[in-house]
Amino acid sequence: MRHEAVQTGLKAHLNRRFAVAAMLLLSAVVAVTVTLIVVTALDRVASYANHLDEERSRETIRGAIQTFRYQLDATLNDYAAWDDAADNVYDPSPSDWSDRNFGDMTYDSDLFDVAILLDRAGRSLMAYSDGSPIAGGLGGYLRQDIQAMLKEVQSREAGGTPQVSGFVRTDKGIGAAGVALIRKKSGEIEVPPERRAYLVFIRHLTPGTVDRHAAAYVLPGLSLVPASTRSTHRVAIESPSGVPLAALAWSPRAPGDMSRQQVEALVTTALVIVGLFCLTLLLTGWMVVRRLRADEQAAVRLSLTDQLSGVANREGLFRMLETRVAEAQVTGDDVVLIYLDLDGFKEINDAYGHATGDSLIRAVAAGLTVLAGDPSALARIGGDEFAIVLKGEDAQARAEVLSEAILSFFNEPLLLGDRVVVVGCSIGLCVSSGGHVDADELIRRADMAMYSSKDGGRGRWTFYDAGMDDAREMRNQLELDLRAAIQDGEISVVYQPIVDAHSFDLVGVEALARWTRRGHGPVSPDVFIPIAEASGLIDRLGLCVLDMALSQLKRWPGIKLSVNISPGQFRDPAFVCRVEDLFEQANVDPQRVVLEMTETYFIQNAERARMALDRLRRIGVRIALDDFGVGFSSVGYLRQFGFDRMKIDRSLIQSLGDGHRAVEMLQATVALARSLNIPVTAEGVETEQQAVILRLAGCDQLQGYLFGRPSTVEDIDAYRARSMTPRARAADIAFAAHRGERH
Ligand code: C2E
Ligand code: CA
Ligand code: CA
Repeated sequence: MRHEAVQTGLKAHLNRRFAVAAMLLLSAVVAVTVTLIVVTALDRVASYANHLDEERSRETIRGAIQTFRYQLDATLNDYAAWDDAADNVYDPSPSDWSDRNFGDMTYDSDLFDVAILLDRAGRSLMAYSDGSPIAGGLGGYLRQDIQAMLKEVQSREAGGTPQVSGFVRTDKGIGAAGVALIRKKSGEIEVPPERRAYLVFIRHLTPGTVDRHAAAYVLPGLSLVPASTRSTHRVAIESPSGVPLAALAWSPRAPGDMSRQQVEALVTTALVIVGLFCLTLLLTGWMVVRRLRADEQAAVRLSLTDQLSGVANREGLFRMLETRVAEAQVTGDDVVLIYLDLDGFKEINDAYGHATGDSLIRAVAAGLTVLAGDPSALARIGGDEFAIVLKGEDAQARAEVLSEAILSFFNEPLLLGDRVVVVGCSIGLCVSSGGHVDADELIRRADMAMYSSKDGGRGRWTFYDAGMDDAREMRNQLELDLRAAIQDGEISVVYQPIVDAHSFDLVGVEALARWTRRGHGPVSPDVFIPIAEASGLIDRLGLCVLDMALSQLKRWPGIKLSVNISPGQFRDPAFVCRVEDLFEQANVDPQRVVLEMTETYFIQNAERARMALDRLRRIGVRIALDDFGVGFSSVGYLRQFGFDRMKIDRSLIQSLGDGHRAVEMLQATVALARSLNIPVTAEGVETEQQAVILRLAGCDQLQGYLFGRPSTVEDIDAYRARSMTPRARAADIAFAAHRGERH
């Protein structure tokens, strides 16, 4: 659950990080786009304004050139189509009228600076330039273009206006020129064609003229340049025949550029502000992303860490293993997984509470960290399960040494606050040589090996081997078969005689479960009882044995019955009630029955055990402490729980042959029990010598092959017939009478 929550949190984190990154990218793109658009727009506005100005200047200059020619044309018209001129020029008597009215006017005039009067053949009748008669030939003035104009005028005499103008080149420069027939204002002409005269006016484009135009039309830098000048800011001046003569060039004012210059500072400031804003956004965004990434890494770490102990959790172990296995695949090293499970943790947790349990886990984690030497190699993978990962060429050897060290660590009691607790541990190991076994399989194998250690008696380490899988499979099958056998009533009971230590008379029997597995033969209780205990089948099995044994008891008056009870059976809250019911049904005096229990349950659940014992005693049954001499074997328990009898385990009896010390120890143990008024039974008595020692030590009852093996009901019948004493028979009769009275 917690893990899922962490995962969901992690996803939300990632989403947020992507959102921030996307926003940053978007704002950067927007900033760049806006900048580009603004700069482009500014550029367009500027170049459009420039273009407009360019066009206006061009049109103005074209107009100016046109006007320059029209002016000359108009002046020429005034002078040539003039009644006075027609009268005087065509007057055959010689006069200086033309010189006075045409020639003199060329001096410092704004209208024309060259005036030439020609006859029909183009010969000069008068020629003035700048107020002075032109000396020499007129070739420098009357070039081809004027000659062509003259012809054109003559050709128009038949119809149309006999006047033509256009730009020409003379030796003086470029200028507007016009040729017109001298005539009356009305256009009338009385002289014959051969006597006709033609007036030529030229007005040159002098620098002064150009400057005046520049000022008048507001065209700075206007100048007359050769036709060959390469510039876009120019308007060509062409002769009437279309030959470029020169051009008027101007310096563009580029108002767009100027406007741009005006706003450039403002726009730059604005863009810098936008840029700074974006930069701030980017910086804060980057910081947010960094924080989110840090949070995310922390969340990942959290999801891989066990909160209680601070070491890696199951997920963390898995990641660690995957990494180590992948590395080993490259380096060829071994990866060893050490898997350990605490023995008795649950009991400490139950007895002292969760706070103590938590302290224990922390203490164990700290101890293991020190032993492993590398905190990152340690993981807590369950309530009381830990794992250590080792890697390297000598990993197996190191793992063995480390396992031994861990077992020694658990041999010492742990001090938790003011409490001293003892826990054990079972270790499973497995190897992935060269990374050939993956993480999942390593965990499965180590778990298997760990269970093998538990089955083997705990407090040990075991390396995984393939046989364990078969063993597990066999065990599972055995459990299935046992379940079926209990259901189908295939469990039987045998009875082993218990005799008086002095008379060797039969005083009781111990009921022992037997199972002949279908298709396999008999299975030892040492095999199927632990399976029944581990699987919970013991509840039904135990009651089943008790039920069968009680029903046999009527056959053997005066004989006591011992029945084994597993600690696991106490877990059933209705256990005592069920026992009571069985006694009712079988109509047996509970006083004749001894329930044998090992001390494990009393160690683990002292309080609950005491309550269960009290209730059982109230029914009337006796309780014996079974298997004394195996495990903790504290005489303290005898006193604390008030057992009615103690049974010394056969392993202790068998060690009697080993020497004096064993005998002395046994004597001391029995003496102690007797001092507490607790009678002692010795089991597993095989020789007469053992029987003698045990009797002398103070045991009042003996059990073992010497007196009889676990036997069928019929065998016990026969045994009883041989050894029944009159005293026992009398006791039986008394009980029967007592029951009869009650019912
Ligand atoms: P246990 O309670 O200590 O039972 C005595 C065991 O010692 C029996 O083994 C018995 O056959 C064996 N034994 C008796 N005399 C001798 C002897 O002289 N020499 C040797 N070597 N062995 C002797 P068994 O029947 O195999 O039972 C083994 C264990 O299984 C029992 O040990 C008991 O703990 C458990 N068990 C058997 N039946 C039941 C049952 O119905 N309920 C429960 N809870 N446990 C049972
Ligand atoms: Ca027993
Ligand atoms: Ca025993």
